[in-house]
Amino acid sequence: MDHLQIIVDEIAEEMALAVERGKVADYIPNLAAVSPAHFGMAIVSVDGSVHVAGDAEQAFSVQSITKVFGLTMALGAVGDALWSRVGREPSGSAFNSIVQLETEKGIPRNPFINAGAIVVSDILLARYEPREAIAEFLRFMRALAGDDTIVIDDHVARGEEQTGFRNAALASYMRAFGNVRHPIEKTLGIYFHQCALAMNCRQLALAGRFLMCGGRNPETGRSVVSPQRARRILALMLTCGHYDGSGEFAYRVGLPGKSGVGGGILSIAPGIASIAVWSPGLNERGNSHLGTLALERLVQRTGWSVFEPVSPDSGRAGRKIGSHFVD
Ligand code: GLN
Repeated sequence: MDHLQIIVDEIAEEMALAVERGKVADYIPNLAAVSPAHFGMAIVSVDGSVHVAGDAEQAFSVQSITKVFGLTMALGAVGDALWSRVGREPSGSAFNSIVQLETEKGIPRNPFINAGAIVVSDILLARYEPREAIAEFLRFMRALAGDDTIVIDDHVARGEEQTGFRNAALASYMRAFGNVRHPIEKTLGIYFHQCALAMNCRQLALAGRFLMCGGRNPETGRSVVSPQRARRILALMLTCGHYDGSGEFAYRVGLPGKSGVGGGILSIAPGIASIAVWSPGLNERGNSHLGTLALERLVQRTGWSVFEPVSPDSGRAGRKIGSHFVD
């Protein structure tokens, strides 16, 4: 068995035995029913190899991880004009917080908090009809993962439509500032359907490949975004991808990552690997408790942190795994 498979298997074993598993999100009806016993992990390496362990083939609700892909699509549609409506600073506040919007005149701090992603959905509506935007988003995800079986879970989307009062408040508030420009039901319709995407760890890690490869989908050879845009999306993931837990995630894991309230995390080791983990129990900031721990273990054992020194000739991709001390 190869070295990386041993690492992934050992991490999955440790996570299966963990007693402290966090708390499953219960404010979205369908998520409350998911067992915290799950743990899955998938690593797609730059050479195309895939290593999986645990429940890596079981679909879960991708939720806020989709904000990375929604942003990618909206940047493709309107380019850097997007940044006149959304900031690029960590918020230091909860993912669904409204407080900064008053003093900052309806401009959300970044595209990865709920308010920011709702504006991104509104931007997509300027280009597409609602149904078309959702269909286009799904097509985009299927193409990135190279998997046409990926679907949006309508029950999850409907459940959120019925209970998403905070998101409705955010959208309404930003509409008052003119930063949501369409009827809020339409904008939220895109946002909730995007969040309700169902994928497993393997599919998610495959969808993240373009971010590990400087913007190019290694399977098709096609450019999804420019290398500069890929770097910038990764920078936002590192600084804002875990809300008010982003500093802690960078400290512990040291990789760009985006979490979702369904318990998934997509994390990218640029030039090395695209990694997806899933465990539904969340910490107090709404990020997967065991998912974070698993990524921390992975980085301790592989040295994949973006802050690891590399020699100028070998580069990051040239680094051997498991060749350093665990701290
Ligand atoms: N759909 C969820 C919400 O709007 C997404 C939040 C998350 O994953 N952190 O609350």
